[in-house]
Amino acid sequence: MRQLLGKLRLTSRNVTEEVYLSEHICCQTCQITVPMGIEVVTVSEAESKKVVKRARYCRAHGAEYAAKAMG
Ligand SMILES: [Zn+2]
Repeated sequence: MRQLLGKLRLTSRNVTEEVYLSEHICCQTCQITVPMGIEVVTVSEAESKKVVKRARYCRAHGAEYAAKAMG
């Protein structure tokens, strides 16, 4: 299961960060696997939505992204 929380447009880098609530995420900050975590997929607008970065966080470490994405 993956649920889109929101998108962040970073015009300076010409990318969009798509923030998802995802199942079975291993946080890259604390290395703990959680049943539900935050996944941040960075896609390039210049290269027709090519995924340039994928980051995974637990709810605590992804909270800042989730808050920004949901405005
Ligand atoms: Zn974490």
